[in-house]
Parts: sequence; structure tokens; C-alpha cells
Amino acid sequence: MRKRCDKISKNNSKISKFAERNEATVATGAKTEKKSMTKKKKIEIGPGEDGIVIRNTGSSYIVRKENGEEVNCRVKGNFRIKGIRTTNPVAVGDHVLVSKAADDADYITSVSTRRNYIIRRASNLSKESHILAANIDIAALVASLRDPETPTTFIDRFLATAEAYGISAMIILNKSDIWDEYDRELAEGLKVLYESIGYKVMEVSAESGVGMEALRGYLSDKITLMAGNSGVGKSTLINKLVPGANLKTGKISDIHHQGMHTTTFSEMVDMPEGGSLIDVPGIRGFGTIDFAEEEVSHYFPEIFRTSKDCKYGNCKHLGEPGCAVKSAVESHYISESRYASYLSIIEEIRNPEKYRKPY
Ligand code: GDP
Ligand code: ZN
Repeated sequence: MRKRCDKISKNNSKISKFAERNEATVATGAKTEKKSMTKKKKIEIGPGEDGIVIRNTGSSYIVRKENGEEVNCRVKGNFRIKGIRTTNPVAVGDHVLVSKAADDADYITSVSTRRNYIIRRASNLSKESHILAANIDIAALVASLRDPETPTTFIDRFLATAEAYGISAMIILNKSDIWDEYDRELAEGLKVLYESIGYKVMEVSAESGVGMEALRGYLSDKITLMAGNSGVGKSTLINKLVPGANLKTGKISDIHHQGMHTTTFSEMVDMPEGGSLIDVPGIRGFGTIDFAEEEVSHYFPEIFRTSKDCKYGNCKHLGEPGCAVKSAVESHYISESRYASYLSIIEEIRNPEKYRKPY
């Protein structure tokens, strides 16, 4: 542990510099589902077959039945989640029952209770939310150190959001083929930092194939949500993990150094070794949940652990006397970049207008 802390400390300034070059660009949220879905609205159609929703096309859903057949379904019944207005009542990853109606059309007639799900606001001003995916084993953030950079605030918001949904998260650092010595050290620093908190970090190059076998092994038999800011190589990575997935890949815009949006709806694809990947559309809107200020620290595990030693029970770690978190940051037991991300979420809660710009 001591060694790890030294290493974190050594890399702290490098990561801080990396963090400083970036700005918080994300906003949104939700919480782990407390209430289960209600189902069972009486319908007058045939017996159901089990299936899993693999694609959401906007107006309908593609369900893969247990026999492997894929059918295009509409929804029959009221599957709304209580207390949340959603644009889609059914999500990719949902286990559903599919029935044929007299007109030969297929309908989703019930949705099984979700283990978890992630949602995001349909748009910045909207009260409606969109369920991006359900029943996820791992939320993986594909990140890149350059071309484009993934800001550490973006990484930390993603991780905090996953914590809030109760989903394990990991980071996939892609494009290792273009790293120079500095980037390799930075990657090592990020790996040490995030693994010390409890998040798996894997370094890969989707292009050259380095690290891909290990990643494949790690993800097999799991349902993994794949997210990432545009241009990091998420589609390339998925295409490599799932030959035939045929996701469109985008060329990085020379002007903005930002990738273009290439997907609109979530989609689940299966890896040949077992396990599935859920590709979610432009994850820029996947960030903080509607956190209450005092909740934020709960989703930064190392801050939460340390906060037990703060002098005041309601300490927000913003400079109060006897704050154990602040002193842990000063002595490099907690990373400055993580603390900066924590502060940026608090700041966003206090000044929502400043942050909720359209993307
Ligand atoms: P997405 O927006 O995250 O889905 O990114 P894409 O998969 O469309 O990739 C964006 C760009 O990055 C494309 O030009 C890819 O060829 C490139 N790219 C993807 N993976 C790698 C990688 O491992 N190394 C390098 N050098 N480029 C990559
Ligand atoms: Zn404190």
C-alpha cells in the first residue's frame, strides 16, 4: 500500500496536469432502481417466448428469442418506471416476453425486473429520461490519452455515475500504439491510481491488437456496457471484439479534434467467446446523476472511506476544519485530480445553468 501511495504521489502532478488541460464536459443522471418494474397488463394474444432486447430502433425493438431468432417488436402494456418519465419503456438488455398477435406482429408483453439500468436525460432541459441499457455486469469506459483526450473529470463522472447505479466500472485505455514515453508513464499513473481505488484498468490498442486478448478474456461471459467520448475508438474496439458487428467508425475531425457521432441507439452484440457488449450512443450526456450535494462523496469510494475521519459528520470536504479528505489530498493519499472532479460535481450542482449546455 505504501508503495502504491508513493507511486500515486509521484504520478499525481502528471495526472493533475493532464486534468487541468481538460474541462468538465458532462452532465446528467439517475439512481439505482429501488422499485421493481411492474408488468402483467392483460393482453389478448398468444403465449409468450423469452427473449432479450438487443436493439432499440426508436419506434420498435429487436428481440433475440431463446432459439436465436431475431424479431422486430412493438410494446404492449405499461412498463413505465414509477416516478421517472422515460422516452422508452423497454431497454437494450431487458429480458422480455414476446408474443404474436392475431395480425402476426410481435409484441413485447412483459419485462422482467431489472438488476440495474442506466438512464440519462433525453435532452438537457427535458424532464424525460432515456433508458440506455439494463442488466449490466460492467460499465466500461473507453478512454484515450490523446487524439482525443478523455478528461479525467469525464472519467471520474462516469465512475461516480456507475457507483450510483451500483454497477462495477472499468477503464479501457485505448490507442496505446500512439503513446510516447510521457503517455506511457501517464497511463501507468492512471492505472495505479484507479486500481488503488478498485477499478480495473486495461491498456489496449484496437488498431495494433496489443492487449486485446487480455481484454477479450476479461469480458467473456459478462454483459458490458461500452461508453466513451467520441473518437476514442469505441466502435473500432467493438468491431475487433465482435467480428461482424460492423459498427460504423468515424474519422476524427481535423478541426475540432472531436470524433463525430456515429450511433444513435443502444445495441447489444455478442462476442464469439461468450459475453455481450452494449454499445451506447454518444455518452457525453452520461455524467452525474441528479446527485444531492452531500451524496457526491458516496460515489468516490476513497473519499467516502476517508470522510469517516472528518471532524464534522456533515463535512463536505470544501475546507471545513478537521477535514480528513482535504488532508489526505494534501498528503497525496487521495489524488488531486479525483478531488478536482469531486469539486467540479459540487460546483455543477451549485451552478447548474453554467454546466447544462447543449452538446
Ligand atoms: P468512436 O467514436 O469512439 O466509436 O471511435 P472510432 O472507433 O470511430 O475511432 C475513431 C478514430 O480512431 C478512427 O479513425 C479509428 O481508426 C481510430 N482508432 C481507433 N482505435 C485506435 C487505436 O487503437 N489506435 C489508433 N492509433 N487509432 C485508433
Ligand atoms: Zn471532510
